[in-house]
Amino acid sequence: MPHRKNDRLSQTLRNALSERFRPASTSDVNQSQDQLGLPPRPAPIRSPKSSARRGAEDFPEFRRIATYQAVGRRLGIRNPYFLPHDGVASATSSIEGHQVLNFASYNYLGLVEDPRIKQAAKDAIDTYGTSASASRLIGGERPVQRELEQALADFYGADDAVVFVSGHATNVTTIGSMFGPGDLVVHDAFIHNSVVEGCRLSGATRLPFRHNDPQSLVETLAKTRAKHKRLLICIEGLYSMDGDTPPLTEFIKIKERFDGYLMVDEAHSLGVLGERGRGIAELYDADRSGVDLWMGTLSKTLAGCGGFIAANQGIVDLLKYSAPGFVYSVGLSPPLAAASLCALEILCFEPGRVVRLHQRAREFLNLARDAGIDTGLAEGHAVVPAVIADSVAAVKLSGKLLTAGLNVQPIVYPAVEESAARLRFFITSEHTSEHIQQAVSLLSRNL
Ligand code: PMP
Repeated sequence: MPHRKNDRLSQTLRNALSERFRPASTSDVNQSQDQLGLPPRPAPIRSPKSSARRGAEDFPEFRRIATYQAVGRRLGIRNPYFLPHDGVASATSSIEGHQVLNFASYNYLGLVEDPRIKQAAKDAIDTYGTSASASRLIGGERPVQRELEQALADFYGADDAVVFVSGHATNVTTIGSMFGPGDLVVHDAFIHNSVVEGCRLSGATRLPFRHNDPQSLVETLAKTRAKHKRLLICIEGLYSMDGDTPPLTEFIKIKERFDGYLMVDEAHSLGVLGERGRGIAELYDADRSGVDLWMGTLSKTLAGCGGFIAANQGIVDLLKYSAPGFVYSVGLSPPLAAASLCALEILCFEPGRVVRLHQRAREFLNLARDAGIDTGLAEGHAVVPAVIADSVAAVKLSGKLLTAGLNVQPIVYPAVEESAARLRFFITSEHTSEHIQQAVSLLSRNL
């Protein structure tokens, strides 16, 4: 639908729009306003800064951040975070006008820039607008949300699925609302922060077990299971810091033996693991119904934003009527639902992308190992760390590589132990063999 001048637009909205679409130079102002069908841009409204407003100095975490920033400035290290990309971040990207090889995005199958997905999102905007505008309980459904849920349920062989507006919030609200005091949540020591936050919220007893070690889980449960009501075991399909996978079948047996629920976070495994990208169950040919809660995000392979739980009907209904992150939060925005639905369809119909990703990831791992790079626990599945074992050195190296034309993010203490500080490479199906060779060669030359 062409954009028409709307005389009822409020002044505040005009200001917000003109601020959002502020062109690079003032001479472009009227041209850009014209394109929006808006009158010339008025002077921005700015409130005077108030010296009475309190700062963050009372917060120890703020002091820690400020110290890191000061040390960085003193050592002349560029802040590696919040780098501004000028367009789509795929195998390559432009950062402040500089073309770089990009190994810092979860765009595993390159779908973020797929014209079919962009069109699906645009069509959804034309039909439903940009927002669901209310919780689905109150404001009602947009059919595209249900279509996505049904497609995700089919993908995981589950009865149904429910989508949330954030992957992080999915774990927090699911665990936080389903489990409570008297229950036990046992999770892999390397589990994502969102699971830990969900456990905290739940009030359940939380115990980590040694990374990827079913025997450690058995030992923990043998000591503690009997003292608790419900049991939840949480693992990830592909660990995003280390690039390794759990022996799923063994975990399914343990959850059955100890009468618990098994939750698998597929954030980094959907579209990545298994011949057709069906995740950890496909990789290990495991029974999908052995996992009670399949959790995943829409923000990685699925080119959107949000999270989901695919499970049996009872659990999905429970979450839809009682998880605060669903009940009291807006429904997934229609263009994002449409984008992820289209991405899921492409994944199912174009398995060649997954095959390409596997080849590139394996290539990266082999070349890196041949070059003597410490790749930690990586198995060759799209996430490969280069362990530097020193946080400052990792940050410095990532800055040096950026200048040389390679964008890769450092992971430093406290996200990982100091001895495990690293650069973390995300490989996508869009990387070519040349990209991989250049990246490994740049890395080994600068180590
Ligand atoms: N789970 C895992 C394993 C993750 O790595 C992440 C974030 N990368 C999340 C959950 C949260 O997902 P989102 O970023 O989509 O909120």
